[in-house]
Amino acid sequence: MKVLVINCGSSSLKYQVLEMDNESLLCKGLVERIGIEGSVLKHEKEGMDKFILQTPMQDHKDAIEHVLNTIIDPVQGVAKSMDEIGAVGHRVVHAGEKYSSSVLITESVMDALEECTDLAPLHNPPNILGIRACQELMPNTPMVGVFDTAYHQTMPPESYIYAIPYEYYTNYKVRRYGFHGTSHKYVANRAAEMMGQPIEELKIITCHLGNGASVSAIKRGVCVDTSMGFTPLEGLVMGTRSGDIDPAIVTYIRQKENLPQGEMNNILNKKSGVLGISGLSSDFRDIEKAAEEGDERAQLAQRVFAHKVRFYIGAYMAEMNGVDAIVFTAGVGENDIGMRDIICQDLSNLGIRLDLIKNKVRGKETVISTDDSRVKILLIPTNEELMIARDTLEIVNGEE
Ligand code: ADP
Repeated sequence: MKVLVINCGSSSLKYQVLEMDNESLLCKGLVERIGIEGSVLKHEKEGMDKFILQTPMQDHKDAIEHVLNTIIDPVQGVAKSMDEIGAVGHRVVHAGEKYSSSVLITESVMDALEECTDLAPLHNPPNILGIRACQELMPNTPMVGVFDTAYHQTMPPESYIYAIPYEYYTNYKVRRYGFHGTSHKYVANRAAEMMGQPIEELKIITCHLGNGASVSAIKRGVCVDTSMGFTPLEGLVMGTRSGDIDPAIVTYIRQKENLPQGEMNNILNKKSGVLGISGLSSDFRDIEKAAEEGDERAQLAQRVFAHKVRFYIGAYMAEMNGVDAIVFTAGVGENDIGMRDIICQDLSNLGIRLDLIKNKVRGKETVISTDDSRVKILLIPTNEELMIARDTLEIVNGEE
């Protein structure tokens, strides 16, 4: 069966078509500037040059219509007609406490997602728009929702309850949800496969280090803790997000700088992280280059970032009473050799030994710990789209 995977942002949309008989990628693409002047669709099919379509796209329905036409195009396409697409998997950011796994999308699921928009006001509305547009254009094709939050729903209350008045949880659903769940799940399962052991026998710490970054503790196949919280702002230092800070700083800075309503939120999400510390860039490649050239604030940004990852690794080792594998994934985790080196330095008393030669690798599934390291360190490129397609296939097959 061919599965279309859709990931809708507010003005962009990413898609892939996978042949699930052999889990191969048939094509992928990106639509940018939806509803803005200069809309563009960039499509890549195996063995062909990149296809670029510049045409006005007023809304998500317009964009998806162009995606579908491209998918069945005689030259650029990968299917003769839409009937060949057996199902659509939609990435949805927030499902609150409603879903702990992927689900077949029905009207009641749509209602539940609408209810969660309060919790993810930037992300859920475009996700919902994308589903609605697909439903209109492909009314007979089953659709599945795959949620970023779902994998973390197994966390015990001590991991997800904040120590603030309990009514904020019961009245307003304020709790830790966690994000990047699809990625954490994918790499944890791959780690177990690579180690040749059932995931039910393993304790794994997954470090998803991208522009957004989070760490998860996965004990016997279920997530028991994760660093992102009520929103993706909590936890690690990120490209532009602060991660954990003393909440009192918010009111203090707001007063000192006489900031308007909402500005602190913008600062913590868009102007902090390694960008804020370095004053240079949110991109770790720029930070690395500047650090190598002797820029002290870039060096500090690297150290603060690494410190926080180490801090969570230590915390999760305590929470799980040990760890069998540490996984690095996403843009920084997969590519930043120097950062993995700093993170893993001087952890030998905890049984964690990085092999500096094996670590000299980017974007490839491999073991990077020394042979005598008690804890395996693994580099595993994430593949959220494949995970979404797998869930979609499983659910659609289960319905038949
Ligand atoms: P997201 O999906 O959160 O936008 P990604 O997982 O794609 O993020 O990661 C993007 C980030 O990965 C970039 O901002 C950059 O900092 C980092 N990155 C990509 N390639 C490299 C590299 N070769 N060395 C260091 N960092 C890299």
